[in-house]
Amino acid sequence: MPEPRGAYLHIPFCHRRCFYCDFAVVPLGDQASAEAGAPGSASIAAYLALLLREIAASPGAAPLSTVYLGGGTPSLLSPAQVGALLESLAARFGLAAGAEITLELDPASFDEQRLSGYLAAGVNRVSLGGQSFDNAVLQGLGRRHHVLDLQQACRWLKAAQQLGRLGSWSLDLIEAVPALGSDRAAPDLEHWRSQLKQAIATGAPHLSIYGLTVEPGTVFGKRAERGELLLPDADLAADQHELSSQLLAEAGYGHYEISNYALPGHASRHNRVYWSGADWWAFGLGATSARRGQRLARPRTRQAYAAWVEALEQGLHSHGDGDGDGEPGAASLPLDELLLVGLRRREGVPMAQLLREAGLGPEKLEELSSLLACEQAQGLLLIEGPRWRLSDPAGLALSNAVLAKLLQWWERVGPPPTAAAPARPAGAG
Ligand code: SF4
Repeated sequence: MPEPRGAYLHIPFCHRRCFYCDFAVVPLGDQASAEAGAPGSASIAAYLALLLREIAASPGAAPLSTVYLGGGTPSLLSPAQVGALLESLAARFGLAAGAEITLELDPASFDEQRLSGYLAAGVNRVSLGGQSFDNAVLQGLGRRHHVLDLQQACRWLKAAQQLGRLGSWSLDLIEAVPALGSDRAAPDLEHWRSQLKQAIATGAPHLSIYGLTVEPGTVFGKRAERGELLLPDADLAADQHELSSQLLAEAGYGHYEISNYALPGHASRHNRVYWSGADWWAFGLGATSARRGQRLARPRTRQAYAAWVEALEQGLHSHGDGDGDGEPGAASLPLDELLLVGLRRREGVPMAQLLREAGLGPEKLEELSSLLACEQAQGLLLIEGPRWRLSDPAGLALSNAVLAKLLQWWERVGPPPTAAAPARPAGAG
C-alpha cells in the first residue's frame, strides 16, 4: 500500500465548547491566546511541544500533498507556531510542490495581520467556521463570534484570494438547527434560503454544509434527553438539503460530496484522501491515522496523549509498521464506511468491485440490488454502469434512510464493524 500523502494535525484548543460539539477539545476561556503570558498560552505551548515530538518520531517516507490543521480552533495558534508545525512536517516528510495546506480559522479569533502571517508561514487554503449569518442562531449554538465578525473574516479571505495570496477558502454552515427558544419553531426554509444567499454573496469558492447532529454528553444531547430540544422535522431538513443543492448549483457550485460544494477547481484535495479510502497521517490528541491498513487512535486527554508520545519515542507504538497497536489487517476504510462515504460522492462507488474485494460473490450484488429496488425505482439510487451513487438532490436528501437500509444488510452479511474513520476533518467546527 502506498505511503500516506495527506496529514491531519489536531489543535484541540477552543475558547469555549459549542453546545453541539463532541470533538476532542480543550476549552481555554474567551480570553485565551497564544501570546506569551495570555490565558491558555502555556497549555498551547506545552501541547505544541508534544505535537512536534510526535511528528519527529514518525517514520516519514513520502512527501505530503495535503496538510490540514484542524481542531478545535487552530487560529488560537500564532503564525510562528503554525510555521513551526509546517517546518517540522517538511523536515520529516517533505512537502510536495503545490501541496494544499489548509488551516481552520474561527471568526473573531484572527485579524487581517494574523491572516497575512499564516499565509506567509505557508498556509494556502482556509476553512472558516462561520456556521450562520444569524446572531440568534450563533448564540443558540453556543458560538462565540457574531455575524459582523464572520462578514469581516470573509472580506479578508476574499481579498487575500483576489490578491493571489490565498489559493482557496471554504465557509462552513450548519443546516437543520433547532428551535432557538422553548416557544419557537425551528428556523424555516426561508430562513435557510437567506443563509445560503448570504453565503454565496461572500464569494467563498467552497462551502461545507453540515446537518446538526445531537451527540450524547453535549449541551444539546442533555437538552434532548430532557425533551427540551426541538429539531426541525425530517421533511424540513430534506427540503433544506434540496434547496442547498438547487441554489448552489445555480450559483455555479458543483455538489461533489453530500456536505461539500465547490466552484470549479476548488474541491478540497485533503478531504478526498479520506473519501477515497487512501491512508493518511494524523497527529495530536484524539486523532486517528491510517497507514498500511492499520488504524491508530490517539488518546483524547492531554495526560494520556503525553504518555502515548513518550511510548512512541521509545518504539512502543508503530505507525502501521505491522507490530504496533493499530488494527492489524484492516483496510483503511472498511466496506461499510466506503459505502457510506462513497455513495454520497458524485463519482459513487464501483459496487461489484468493492463487494468482491470484501470477499462477497456476485449473488450478493444481486441481493443488494433487489433490496434497494424501490430506491432505484424512485430515482434515489442511481446505478450507472459499474458505479452506484445517490441522486442529487433527492437521493442525497434522503441519504440517511437509504444508507441505514444498506448498513442493516451489511451487518447481516459482512464482518463486524471497525472503529470509525473521520469522514471529515475532525475540527470543521
Ligand atoms: S464546534 Fe468547533 S469551535 Fe466549537 S467547540 Fe467544537 S471544535 Fe471548538
